[in-house]
Amino acid sequence: MSDPAFPGATGLSATRRQLALDERGFANLARQVRSPNHDPRPAGTAVSLLVVHGISLPPGEYGGDGITRLFTNRLDPRAHPYYAAIAGMKVSAHFLIRRDGELIQFVGCFERAWHAGASAWKGRERCNDFSIGIELEGADDVAYAAAQYTMLARLIRVLRRTFPIDDIVGHADIAPGRKTDPGPAFDWARLRRLLAPRAR
Ligand SMILES: [Zn+2]
Repeated sequence: MSDPAFPGATGLSATRRQLALDERGFANLARQVRSPNHDPRPAGTAVSLLVVHGISLPPGEYGGDGITRLFTNRLDPRAHPYYAAIAGMKVSAHFLIRRDGELIQFVGCFERAWHAGASAWKGRERCNDFSIGIELEGADDVAYAAAQYTMLARLIRVLRRTFPIDDIVGHADIAPGRKTDPGPAFDWARLRRLLAPRAR
């Protein structure tokens, strides 16, 4: 139920609030789930790259707690056959945007999250050093939700105010042959339209 006297009481109200990043690199509207899988960026490294990922756990299933469990080292290897192979991985991303547009943050933006793995962009290796990783709950061949594009564009606008972002790429672009996400289903033209100045 939406009550205008209590803004923030519903998800709908929250979407109208101004998204902002605090001085420690945490987004005010994000649900905070701290991941231990992070460490400092190399000294003096500017954040110049945004990496868009797609993930669903179990693969192709949405809405469960598999992703947050994976990123916080609490995934039960017996809960699903697929989990046995990945449960021991120490991985994270800065953000996850769920199918309904909910924003979850695991790592502060000034810290290095562990999302890219072996990677390179424009000849520069170890993209985790200089990037922010944003996971979209989804699969390579299934259309991402409108609410996810909306939140992604809002988040990118806010991140650009703090960080000198030069490029926005997919995981597949920085780890070709090894990674395919966010996959052909991700509509880059749609994101570009949302980020165009006229779309504000
Ligand atoms: Zn990825």
